Amino acid sequence: MPELPEVETIKNQITPNLPLKVKRVILSDVSDSIVKDKDFPLKNFVIERVERQGKVMRFFLDKNRRIISGLGMSGSWRISHLPITEKHTHVQLCGENKEGDFFLGYIDPRRFGNMHFFNEENEKKWLTRLGADVSKPEFNLEYLIELKKKRPNKVIKPFLLEQNFFAGVGNYMASEMCARAGIRPTRRMKTLTRKDLEKLLEATKVVLDQTINSGGTTFSGGYQDANGNKGKGVTNLVVFHQETCGLCLETEVKRLVLAGRGTFYCPKCQK
Ligand SMILES: [Zn+2]
Repeated sequence: MPELPEVETIKNQITPNLPLKVKRVILSDVSDSIVKDKDFPLKNFVIERVERQGKVMRFFLDKNRRIISGLGMSGSWRISHLPITEKHTHVQLCGENKEGDFFLGYIDPRRFGNMHFFNEENEKKWLTRLGADVSKPEFNLEYLIELKKKRPNKVIKPFLLEQNFFAGVGNYMASEMCARAGIRPTRRMKTLTRKDLEKLLEATKVVLDQTINSGGTTFSGGYQDANGNKGKGVTNLVVFHQETCGLCLETEVKRLVLAGRGTFYCPKCQK
């Protein structure tokens, strides 16, 4: 599943190709499950820039319109100077940028992604469902202390997956963040000290920096970036699907299931 680093990578690859004037939109026969508005009137709009909030892509169009694109389990955007013919291309924006014809395709084999066409106000309303983006200054010690007060009984690892509190975190990131912070994934919020929360912030930064520098993380058959390439982030993993802890280099990694999701930790490094 694309998490913050993967979405950031795709966003960074799309950015130099904007602005893009959309001349035609091609939707696949089964795109309804993704494109939530029956009317997707993008023709003649200009996509001026793209940003990311959590795992969500935000395309800024002229006339104060927006496209919100959630990538779900297997979504990705592709960029190309030629029409995109790849299987599972459900939305294709055919247009023109400063270099000529240009194509932006949304590819999603499992079709859990979603896409909305909004005006500024509706977008703002929609985005209120997201908590602090963990790559931005809004994710800080005060924020975590406040969450500890509000949600003392939450178990940290599954809690990290809740987008209304930790926008951008997914399953591999959550295990890696706990590992690098030295926190057992089963700890409740109320047991985390100020020092633990500081370490969690630091760990988040390390995980994000390393993974974004690696172009995201691709697991078997998974994520591809906007050029169709895989990310090299697996080399950074210290516990997620690892046998030996990548921090102490000697302890066997334990696996457990929390809230239905595979969770990995080092019993020596994480207390
Ligand atoms: Zn260890």
